Amino acid sequence: MTDLSAFIADLPKVELHVHHVGSASPRAVAELAARHAGRTPVPADPAALADYFAFRDFAHFIEVYLSVVDLIRDPEDVWILTHEVARQLARQQVRYAELTITPYSHVSRGIPAPAFCEAIEDARKRAEADFGIALRWCFDIPGEAGLPAAEETLRIALEERPDGLISFGLGGPEIGVPRPQFKPYFDRARAAGLRSVPHAGETTGPQTVWDALRDLGAERIGHGISAAADPELLAHLAQRRIALEVCPTSNVRTRAVASLDEHPLPRLVEAGVLVTINSDDPPMFGTTLDDEYAVAARLLGLGPDGVAALARDAVTASFLEPGEKARLTAEIDAYAAVAAR
Ligand SMILES: [Zn+2]
Repeated sequence: MTDLSAFIADLPKVELHVHHVGSASPRAVAELAARHAGRTPVPADPAALADYFAFRDFAHFIEVYLSVVDLIRDPEDVWILTHEVARQLARQQVRYAELTITPYSHVSRGIPAPAFCEAIEDARKRAEADFGIALRWCFDIPGEAGLPAAEETLRIALEERPDGLISFGLGGPEIGVPRPQFKPYFDRARAAGLRSVPHAGETTGPQTVWDALRDLGAERIGHGISAAADPELLAHLAQRRIALEVCPTSNVRTRAVASLDEHPLPRLVEAGVLVTINSDDPPMFGTTLDDEYAVAARLLGLGPDGVAALARDAVTASFLEPGEKARLTAEIDAYAAVAAR
């Protein structure tokens, strides 16, 4: 197991499902809390932060998450968060990440959309130079905020159109937030060239995944794990090569799945679905992308070759250009070949 952990740690990887604020490391949160000392309940001391991040239950997780959102008050905060997230990813040998950002949360709290987009773009370019990682953005609608948030997210995406923006998403709760109502916004985003990547089938059944495919034109699905209960849907996903962004630890922490041993990942893989392994909100769920690869290896009974195949599948499912996909796949192949000696 130690050998496999070492193999995973140095394996070149791609991350396709990770949230911007949800990736705020204790180090980033401490820095932001210090900038706003006296005006936030969040402690600025990293040791105290470990306790602050120990969630009692899901409601407490949401409370802590929102207190971190509240630390993002000006473009400098946005820059610090984004640059720090890139550092954490690059440290795990992530070469390319599609980061889910919810601009509505920040613009509705008073950061002007142009300044917000300028901050993420500047941080993206600096991270590329500092850490050798390529970042792209998925702007997502916070579903719980309804259609006004959808309209505003689309407006920001299309009017600002930052260079790193490639896709349009939908997050937040699924229960009580039907996917089809967002069709007009996804239609307009897709018409403008953005790829469709909604969350679906995380906490609700397979019908939500069908809705995401049929109404929102989903090209990949955030989570999608409830597809395991619908053989017809599994066959459809496998045949169309529509990838699922699976985040095992997140599913246990949010109680979408009772335990890792009951996670449907093996059934999805057996059905031939293109599965990618991701971390969702890693520091908040007490995980890392490396940990998620280790979990997947255990659930699927994989050794180094199987783990390298998961990394290649994530490249395949990404929205990278074909030339970049080939280059990254070759890097994974070369690493696996040397490690196998
Ligand atoms: Zn997510």
